[in-house]
Amino acid sequence: MDQKSLLQQIPSVDKVLGAPEFATLIEKHGTERVKARVRADLDALRVQVRAQIEPNDRDGIPSFAELADALSTRIRLEDIGSFKKVINLTGTVLHTNLGRASLPTSALDAVVRLSAGNSNLEFDLNSGKRGDRDSHVESLVQTLTGAEAVTVVNNNAAAVLICLNTLAFGQEVCISRGELVEIGGSFRIPEVMEKSGCTLKEIGATNRTHLKDYQNAIGENTGLLMKVHTSNYEIRGFTQEVDYDELATLGKQHNIPLLADLGSGTLVNLEDYGLAHEPTVQEVLNAGADVVTFSGDKLLGGPQAGIIAGKKEFIDRVKQNPLKRALRVDKMTLAALTEVLKLYREPETLGLELPTLRHLGKTAETVLQDCETMLPAMQDALKDHAEVSITATESQIGSGALPLDQIASFALAIKPNDQSDHALQHISDAFRSLPSPVIGRLQQGKILFDLRTLDDVSLVTEQLQHLNL
Ligand SMILES: *Cc1c(COP(=O)(O)O)cnc(C)c1O
Repeated sequence: MDQKSLLQQIPSVDKVLGAPEFATLIEKHGTERVKARVRADLDALRVQVRAQIEPNDRDGIPSFAELADALSTRIRLEDIGSFKKVINLTGTVLHTNLGRASLPTSALDAVVRLSAGNSNLEFDLNSGKRGDRDSHVESLVQTLTGAEAVTVVNNNAAAVLICLNTLAFGQEVCISRGELVEIGGSFRIPEVMEKSGCTLKEIGATNRTHLKDYQNAIGENTGLLMKVHTSNYEIRGFTQEVDYDELATLGKQHNIPLLADLGSGTLVNLEDYGLAHEPTVQEVLNAGADVVTFSGDKLLGGPQAGIIAGKKEFIDRVKQNPLKRALRVDKMTLAALTEVLKLYREPETLGLELPTLRHLGKTAETVLQDCETMLPAMQDALKDHAEVSITATESQIGSGALPLDQIASFALAIKPNDQSDHALQHISDAFRSLPSPVIGRLQQGKILFDLRTLDDVSLVTEQLQHLNL
């Protein structure tokens, strides 16, 4: 059909909207939304016809039913949006790209309860006067860690930034060369130091730093001693670092506070969960650190946040820094964080109630049982495409916590019949295209689904019918 008659056949927006095929769409989504998209679709159609894209196989323009169908699909996709639930079977429990810690039910309920309407976020119900949003978290962290005072900001990167800026603006900060970490996502200690208005004073050598190195470096303009958890790497071999208590003692002698960036930070002895020991927030405060910072959504298992705990005189100064207003947390974060902290008051049930510790503490046998439960359904879904078996593997904590620690686990291993990279990609694409995308990891020509982080096998098996291979 020629271009001119095709163009003439394109209906007007009003005509399309008046067609019976569009009645349901308009009823469901309103005239405004449907009209805007119909107009855009008809414009696009006109452009296509003018540009003679596919002119020869076009007998005519799409029917009302076809237009309505395409629009309905588009609206459905718009409504799903790009931000969705995924199922993390990568074997990395705290996966930064997949949103780190999964929140416990009580935290989710609190988010809904406290954000659906108003709350006493910054309102003191006793006096009827203005209150402090930190107060809700502060008393919990005080009880759990013994800290004198607490404040909360957007994340641990913000916590480090505001602490440096508050405690050592225009001054030197002493930090070991072995602790000048890059966390990823462009968070590097030397750069944060610069942005916070402090001067970095590198101490010791990469592998060995001694107390005397700090002693020699302290001068007129030293504002702060700092220790940073080397979260995502470990220096092994001929090494030496200075402990928190030695550094704190040195600081006290010179009247210089000690700041500790614990990175992940934990409030419990991780050995109780079968992991290696990490200094807890309590231990570091007891060793004499004046201020500690740690993340809300790493080992703590809560929402994204940066918790700053320590001596009242320093925390008060942090609270008064104008940056605090820029870095403060929202009510939804505080709602979730307070509930997560409440779980820590009952250590007997913590490992069941808090998803992060539940997943980390799961035995390999339990993961194996889940693999056995899922295996037949997975074999069936992939029967013409791949071989599925159970394999022993190792999970990781992730987010820089205990980077060298591996946790014995089990996974379903999918090995495509066709041993090409393309076949492997094709299958993993199909899992990523499920309604709740399932994300595994590729290893030696196989897709591994580590079930450590899966609470309910049916979340995956119920979706297998939609697998588009
Ligand atoms: C993860 C980490 C940070 C950054 O914490 P976020 O909560 O991700 O902002 C800072 N310092 C250390 C040592 C870390 O491990």
